[in-house]
Amino acid sequence: MKLHEYQSKQIFSRFGVPIPKGHVAATAAEARQVAEELGGRVVIKSQVLVGGRGKAGGIRLAKSPKEAEEVAPLILAMELKGLPVRKVLVDEAVPISKEIYLGITNDRAMRKPVIMASAAGGVDIEEIARQSPEKIIKIHIDPLLGLRDYQARDIAVGIDLPREHWRAFLDVARGLWKAYLECDATLAEINPLVITADNRLLALDGKIIIDDNALFRHPDLADMRDMDIEAPAEIEARKYGLSYIKLDGQIGCLVNGAGLAMATMDIIKLFGGEPSNFLDVGGGATSDKVAVAFRIILTDPNVRAVLINIFGGITRGDEVARGILAALKEVKTSIPMVVRLVGTNAEEGRRLLADAHMITAETLAEAAQKVVAVAKGG
Ligand code: GDP
Ligand code: MN
Repeated sequence: MKLHEYQSKQIFSRFGVPIPKGHVAATAAEARQVAEELGGRVVIKSQVLVGGRGKAGGIRLAKSPKEAEEVAPLILAMELKGLPVRKVLVDEAVPISKEIYLGITNDRAMRKPVIMASAAGGVDIEEIARQSPEKIIKIHIDPLLGLRDYQARDIAVGIDLPREHWRAFLDVARGLWKAYLECDATLAEINPLVITADNRLLALDGKIIIDDNALFRHPDLADMRDMDIEAPAEIEARKYGLSYIKLDGQIGCLVNGAGLAMATMDIIKLFGGEPSNFLDVGGGATSDKVAVAFRIILTDPNVRAVLINIFGGITRGDEVARGILAALKEVKTSIPMVVRLVGTNAEEGRRLLADAHMITAETLAEAAQKVVAVAKGG
């Protein structure tokens, strides 16, 4: 789960990383009020979960509260890379003398967190990573020992940070590490970490990604989830414990088991189709869970056909069939469906579905070929 800049910076601040004064606003009047409280020049920053907002015009300077009131609605009306702006962060404008990159992420190959820094921070860090990776210093962190002070000093040396900033930099690095660790983050990043014109270090931008699998032990962080940016279908699915991800194709997939769901998507593609979703109803799916899954799949207007692929183990074929039939009563649809049902109580399930005029298949390959054909109007 990605956190917004303003949320990430609040967390950084809790762990002792200095941030500019500021506040989030959702209207022009609120933006003006924040600007009045801050006094002086402010930056108005779109809060959307994409990078490169600066280059896309999503960050503007305002010299007065009045200007903040004028600029905020312009940014609030924007869409950045397809995402609507619903909030802006109004921060005190800071004169900058240098921009640094500092981030911590997981290095899966090394099985350790890695702290990365570059003297060439700011907006083009991805470009630098591609073209001159030697300009990015990386040090692996032993997860049991944590970030050691000598490692943070090595980073400071590596990016030629003037000695007068070392003490402050150590605090920032320690704070970033603590935030990363205690939030169960997979990324904690400051870009840019700036040296201000009056020689302070400040985190001007912030990005935290929380490991979804750890959210259960961070209810406060889970509450930060931005419902606006998530497809309503995905929110609904999560409520019922289904793993659903919307995709761009035309063939809906209702499958039990993540591995089987992936295999189903692959085989649909192999036969020339495109899946419209990933959906794992999970083991032991009950009929009402299947009904919800079915409803969610059919809310996607791109869906031309549905492939139901159930391998009955703990999940019983007749339960699944009953779920589909219940859902069909609720959601009237003429979309063709292909069913492949094997395993526990499959026979009974198939008999129930035959009455609902569904196309059945014995093997996955056969099911995929049939669903691709009907999706194309065959
Ligand atoms: P991003 O483009 O989404 O990464 O947004 P950032 O928050 O990193 O801002 C992009 C750039 O805008 C920064 O690298 C700065 O150069 C500039 N910027 C952002 N806030 C301020 C500020 O308070 N003062 C000044 N002078 N520049 C800023
Ligand atoms: Mn940035």
